[in-house]
Amino acid sequence: MGWCGDMFLFKYHFYPSTRLIPASEFLDMHCEPFVDNLGKGGQFLAGGYFANQHAKITYYGPCAEKTSLSPKLHFAWAKRSYKRILQYSLRRPKFECVGRLPVEQPCCTCRGKADLILRTNFLSMESVLKCTKCARYVPLYRFRSLSSDTELLSGINSWKAAYDRCDGLFIGSGVGERFGYYQTSSLKSPLAQDGVKLCRSLEKKLKVRVYYDLTTYYGRSSSLERKRCCPRCKGNWLLKQPWLKFYNFRCNKCRLVSNIAWDIAPAYSKQTS
Ligand SMILES: [Zn+2]
Ligand SMILES: [Zn+2]
Repeated sequence: MGWCGDMFLFKYHFYPSTRLIPASEFLDMHCEPFVDNLGKGGQFLAGGYFANQHAKITYYGPCAEKTSLSPKLHFAWAKRSYKRILQYSLRRPKFECVGRLPVEQPCCTCRGKADLILRTNFLSMESVLKCTKCARYVPLYRFRSLSSDTELLSGINSWKAAYDRCDGLFIGSGVGERFGYYQTSSLKSPLAQDGVKLCRSLEKKLKVRVYYDLTTYYGRSSSLERKRCCPRCKGNWLLKQPWLKFYNFRCNKCRLVSNIAWDIAPAYSKQTS
């Protein structure tokens, strides 16, 4: 299947049967959970809005692809809430593309399987899985084997939420800055331990390698940075050439990647992540 890489703003219209349910209740009880579940499967990206117009409810939100919202791509949770929407609707909800969004990097369009990297940052609304062929993110709904694995999907979504909170504390440079940095940069931290476990579960499910990204901001010197060992097996993991133009360290055995500290190698800035 060919994938179209870009990002789009979509409108999703809902038509509650107000004889069966007040529109406000329909919105709270059915539309919001449905949109939330589309988000958990990567069909909608975060950051949308509901608008209420007479008896019609419309959600405006960003999508990775023109095909993202197809009901065929629903995961188990979205399937269930879509059924409930239909029960209380005058007619089938429909969605339409409003236009292209210029701001975001398009998603992966590679064919076939590729190894992945589990990575995010608190500003990113993109998928947490990055393709190692093109270095772009892969929408979650493409991994059909996740479709009914609610435990693994919950794991992905709660790791993302925890990562965002920790990274946000670090980037905010105030309360909790050190705590946030420890969680995102140290393999010993509970956040990284959760992330590594998640990688192993994803590997079993998706049958590809899944690397965990330990992001590094602070380093003492360029030479000490280059001497850094894999934090798990203590082996040499420095690469001759940066992998995907970004990672200076990779341990294939432990499936960990990292970068030369940003304060030492500003060329690898946060923007390029
Ligand atoms: Zn790709
Ligand atoms: Zn290692």
